[in-house]
Amino acid sequence: MEISEKSTNSEHERVLFAHEAASGYRGIIAIHSSELGPAIGGTRLWNYASEDEALTDALRLSRGMTYKNALPGLPLGGGKAVIIADAKSLDRETIFRAHGRFVETLGGRFITAEDVGTSPADMAIVRKETSHVGGLLSGAGDPSPFTARGVFRAMQAAASYVWNGGDLSRVTVAIQGCGNVGYHLAKSLNAVGAKLIVSDVDPRKVLRVVDEFKAVGVAPDDILAVRADIFAPCALGGVINDQTIPRLAARIVAGAANNQLLEERHGEMLSERGILYVPDYAANAGGVFSGCIDLLGWDRERAWNKVDEIYDTILGILDIASAEGISTNKAADRIAEKHLRESVATKSTKESFSVRAERI
Ligand code: NAD
Repeated sequence: MEISEKSTNSEHERVLFAHEAASGYRGIIAIHSSELGPAIGGTRLWNYASEDEALTDALRLSRGMTYKNALPGLPLGGGKAVIIADAKSLDRETIFRAHGRFVETLGGRFITAEDVGTSPADMAIVRKETSHVGGLLSGAGDPSPFTARGVFRAMQAAASYVWNGGDLSRVTVAIQGCGNVGYHLAKSLNAVGAKLIVSDVDPRKVLRVVDEFKAVGVAPDDILAVRADIFAPCALGGVINDQTIPRLAARIVAGAANNQLLEERHGEMLSERGILYVPDYAANAGGVFSGCIDLLGWDRERAWNKVDEIYDTILGILDIASAEGISTNKAADRIAEKHLRESVATKSTKESFSVRAERI
């Protein structure tokens, strides 16, 4: 396997490219920050049009992981892996074993799990080559129910802010993407009586949610503009952009997808339109909390309690945004950056104490 390090103009600590001619494996690992602890981040498998597109995704997603972990004060850094491959013509055993060897070269500075296009079964293959992998069925298991619960709590918080009550029984939610998280989110919303409108590029996934949760299915292109109170992006990133913002009919955007805003400024555009944006990495942190069962030895109860706290985290972000007249994404970044600065300062104070102690 050939591994090369690339210097980018970004703030990332390390960006590594791997290529294995024999298996056809091509992957990227981006470590944004390991200041607070080992960089953790899922492995995304996607048929990227180019290596540049894959790199952009890895850089953006790994930065998001640093902020996602810093916001709730976890002792974990941010990273992300992407595999450039077509899922339709893939020998998964070969490719994920190669990926495991790539992860192993970082010696635990990067720990991965599943993400879009990968599953706990794929991570079990990765585990054959490295111990630096979570999200296995033998451990905490599928993080999606945790993530979905966190998004549900985030919606309740946003609803209490906008409509003066966190009751979701009378709202209509448009869910884009009926995959792992979208499915579990639909289940919780249906359980409290919310109305659902859903879309997915895979019609079988739409049908399942329509059948089980009395949802109305619409074509992927129509989901943004449907009459709904909340729009929940649960597919891919970049869905909030110059083209989509004018089409949005919802009053709240709250979902699981990472990097929902194509650019930072789209957060401001949403607030100018009177749409409350719930910062993605604050709402979708439930999966990381489930990862803490394996990574930090938490019990399941602690992880679920932490997921429920997402409600208060979102209220805190909305309060700062409103008090300081800034967008909600900026407010979330400010809190995460404050936690980063404080943790790094505490760490360096501890380090200088231990250096002094050694000298004494
Ligand atoms: P998934 O792959 O199971 O589901 C994504 C779904 O989106 C798929 O069903 C896919 O067919 C659909 N999709 C793709 N393009 C679409 C489009 N244009 N319109 C409608 N549907 C489309 O992934 P997931 O685990 O459910 O994750 C969903 C999102 O949440 C991703 O962005 C992921 O990074 C993020 N996320 C997931 C977790 C987790 O615990 N699984 C945690 C944090 C963030």
